Amino acid sequence: METVKLHDKTFKTSIPFAEIETSVIQLAQQINADYQGRKPLFLAVLNGSFMFAADLMKHICVDCEISFIKVASYHGVSSAGTVSELIGLTENIQNRDVIILEDIVDSGLTLEKVVGLINARKPSSVKVAALLLKPEAYKKSIPVDYVAFKIPNDFIVGYGLDYDGLGRNLKNIYKIEN
Ligand code: 5GP
Ligand code: MG
Repeated sequence: METVKLHDKTFKTSIPFAEIETSVIQLAQQINADYQGRKPLFLAVLNGSFMFAADLMKHICVDCEISFIKVASYHGVSSAGTVSELIGLTENIQNRDVIILEDIVDSGLTLEKVVGLINARKPSSVKVAALLLKPEAYKKSIPVDYVAFKIPNDFIVGYGLDYDGLGRNLKNIYKIEN
């Protein structure tokens, strides 16, 4: 089994690209069936979702648009809590059918923020498509409507996901070697 070393850690192949491709195509087919006659706006959350988004979109055959967003978190001046804002969303999403593209949903905290910020702009619907979901870690109630892979609570890299900046370019998904 192929292993890769990133910084101080070793990772071994977990999901080879051929399997990723098959699942991503199936996911695209579900979306095609569900969105017939509509014109969804895909919002891919950078950086991690860039490969997933690119491969998924090649198999979407309903009229659609795609845009790329980032979520920035900072500590508010007057409150102790963290404030989040969406960066890069220039489209008016009122009355649009939005599909959020996420690389991985772990605790769900990030997804909850993204969905909250998007809902505040009054789209007509919001669904979530994630390449990976860690069901054992997921603590939120927001439905993750489309999932390519459910995985255990291991740290993974590759296919867009990084370990401290490295590994996003890898074609397969790798998991950390214990
Ligand atoms: P959550 O907010 O759901 O706990 O975490 C989501 C974010 O944490 C993801 O967008 C991703 O950036 C990061 N993350 C969670 N699990 C993993 C993992 O196994 N590998 C990598 N590379 N990032 C992860
Ligand atoms: Mg992410």
